[in-house]
Amino acid sequence: MQKLVIIGGGFAGFWSAMSAVRQARALGKCDELKISLISKDQYHSIRPRFYEADLASMRLPLIHHLTALNVGLIVGEVSSIDPDRQRIHLTGQAEGLVYDTMILSAGSTLKSLAIPGIEHAFNVDTFHAATALDRHLHRLAITGFSTSASRTVVVIGGGFTGLEVVTALPQRLGAYALNRPDFRLILLDRCAKLASNYSPDARQYIADQLAAANIEVWVKQEAVRIETDRLTLKSGHSIATETVIRTTGLEASPLTATLKGERDELGRLLVDRFLRVPGYDNIFAAGDAAKALVDSQHYAVMSCQHAIPQGKFAGHNAINALFGRALKPYSQPRYVTCLDLGTSNALFTIDWTRNLKLSGQPAKALKNEIVTQWIYPPADAEETIKLAVPEILAPS
Ligand SMILES: Cc1cc2nc3c(=O)[nH]c(=O)nc-3n(C[C@H](O)[C@H](O)[C@H](O)COP(=O)(O)OP(=O)(O)OC[C@H]3O[C@@H](n4cnc5c(N)ncnc54)[C@H](O)[C@@H]3O)c2cc1C
Repeated sequence: MQKLVIIGGGFAGFWSAMSAVRQARALGKCDELKISLISKDQYHSIRPRFYEADLASMRLPLIHHLTALNVGLIVGEVSSIDPDRQRIHLTGQAEGLVYDTMILSAGSTLKSLAIPGIEHAFNVDTFHAATALDRHLHRLAITGFSTSASRTVVVIGGGFTGLEVVTALPQRLGAYALNRPDFRLILLDRCAKLASNYSPDARQYIADQLAAANIEVWVKQEAVRIETDRLTLKSGHSIATETVIRTTGLEASPLTATLKGERDELGRLLVDRFLRVPGYDNIFAAGDAAKALVDSQHYAVMSCQHAIPQGKFAGHNAINALFGRALKPYSQPRYVTCLDLGTSNALFTIDWTRNLKLSGQPAKALKNEIVTQWIYPPADAEETIKLAVPEILAPS
């Protein structure tokens, strides 16, 4: 019996499992194969939506699809990988789990920020963190947002997630306090220019929407201390606030460091065009844990846009590697971004220059469709398998 073990139940890991089942069936190898998926928790989390207020539909039980497809679910935390002995070690378990082929799709976590009081900052990186933020806002609402510090929210980090978090706040806080006008929202970044990787028209659009929502943008500012009621900046300035949310970038799972091979500045493992980790015939990496070329010159970014198709290629290739079949090269020339900018506003860009293609309500409708439909697997496991095809999308 061959053993395929997938680490991670996020976008890359989930779709790896679906694609592996599909390809095993295509090769008629299901009886010779045991597929297992290890995840820290029992859920397939819809992480890109954790900045929203209502978190109810953002975790899908992995067991639902996996059991239907005879994939084993192991809930536990992988502590290390021993590629020489083909073993995966889990925290608190003496026996390692043996694999013949492995897919590392353990994703990423919020980059650490070593400043005093960082534990007082909220984030939206995980379901638990997003829930903690929600509870905190709820507590402030119960006190009636009675102090100016309770009415001031500072978001540290003006990247994609920071923009989505801060532009969601007017509606989110408004729901608690009937659009109380004296909320103060600050988006703070140490860079000189926000959204610098966007085209000038997209950047201008973002700036206009921030201004229209009365969101203060503080650039070239660095947070040096966080307290429960105050944020201090390197400039010496301090802001009275009870809510600091940090969106300071992601870094790949530390498990990437347990394998040899080149890693980038985000900790991602450089993979070959089959998503294999160089130096190992039987280890693939996908999603935020991998640095994969999507065309002749661009690397995938940490996104579910890339993690989902990479999962489909990794699952397919892992099965083919196990049974001596040809591997399929991954590529994904089409690249878009869809940035939420509040209640009825978003921005949609195409290609790597991030040119503005859609904005306002049409872009918001597209964003809603992406985050409520496209990134969710069908509820039916067999329907999901039909979508688990390693396909190369043509450029837009
Ligand atoms: C607020 C926010 C907004 C975002 N918005 C967008 C967006 O609009 N568009 C977009 O494309 N992307 C967006 N992203 C990025 C996107 O969510 C990630 O790129 C995507 O989740 C990566 O998928 P993944 O499967 O590689 O990793 P993850 O989704 O992080 O999944 C990793 C999995 O591995 C498991 N795991 C991790 N470590 C271990 C371990 N040691 N042992 C066992 N299991 C482990 C986790 O439990 C999880 O199941 C956003 C992210 C955030 C946080």
